[in-house]
Amino acid sequence: MNNAAVSVIGLGEMGRALADALITAGYCTTVWNRSAAKADDLAARGAVRATTVEEAVLASPLSIVCLLDYDVVDAILRPAAGALHGRTLVNLTNGTPDQARQTEAWAEDHGTAYLDGGIMAIPSTVATSQAFVLYSGQRAHFEAHKETLEVLGSAKYLGADAGIAALYDLALLSAMNVMFDGFFHSVAMATSHKEGNAVGFTELLVPWLTSMAQVMPAFAADVDSDAEPVLAQGLDVVLASVRNMAQASRDAGVRAEYFEQSAATLEKLLAEGLTAYTAPVVMRHLRTSS
Ligand code: NDP
Repeated sequence: MNNAAVSVIGLGEMGRALADALITAGYCTTVWNRSAAKADDLAARGAVRATTVEEAVLASPLSIVCLLDYDVVDAILRPAAGALHGRTLVNLTNGTPDQARQTEAWAEDHGTAYLDGGIMAIPSTVATSQAFVLYSGQRAHFEAHKETLEVLGSAKYLGADAGIAALYDLALLSAMNVMFDGFFHSVAMATSHKEGNAVGFTELLVPWLTSMAQVMPAFAADVDSDAEPVLAQGLDVVLASVRNMAQASRDAGVRAEYFEQSAATLEKLLAEGLTAYTAPVVMRHLRTSS
């Protein structure tokens, strides 16, 4: 078993990018995929083709798994549990924190060191300075393979709870998702005008959002602090502008449900006697369990 050997299980868009990065970095890379033809290009670049998952696992001390979801991970790895004994499994499949913890428990039951991860990259940015990958699980497992994991993108260890990488991954993706929803909403509004066009509008939107993103660290500090929030705006002022966003959307023939819901929330907070829009107020509203 070669310490500079890595196996990659799952050769979809992302798995192929991961395997490609490892080959480029000089690792002896063994690959397996349900549809074997997806290994052709990698094999031409020097990857070793495994004909079974078990064969792939046995080829390396470290196996990196990147599949559709955890049900597929479970179905594929369960028959190879014996082969995984004494080896390390890094699961970069997108999933929930509980799925990560359950997979760690299953791996530990089979004598396998487990790390869960979240890839903050797209296939074309894997192994570039833009890529980072979140990891959680036992620190010793991370340290043992950190050098290899750094090949895929900056490796960020978050903690011993195997679920925290998935939690942060999904939290980061949720911000991206809402940002794109906001982008499309704003483009629908802007292009409702006869002189509006998406490209010209987006030339204004990107610098605007980039500038507003600079405010987030101050909001975050207010979330973490028990002191009086540094950033505060009148709730009534925010409500007035959100009502205008809803009305202008309706007038432009664009769905306004998000802003109508947002206005209803702000009205509720005002009715409760709150007067300032601050990060702690928003957090209290969002946290259903508090
Ligand atoms: P793809 O759809 O390209 O690949 C899916 C992979 O899962 C393939 O290897 C596919 O095998 C395999 N698979 C699906 N169903 C089964 C099954 N029933 N049995 C066996 N194998 C199966 O997806 P990606 O590579 O893009 O995504 C993989 C993971 O990476 C996901 O969790 C995704 O969220 C994550 N990710 C992807 C990013 C991206 O930009 N693409 C970005 C960050 C994370 P087959 O080839 O045989 O169909």
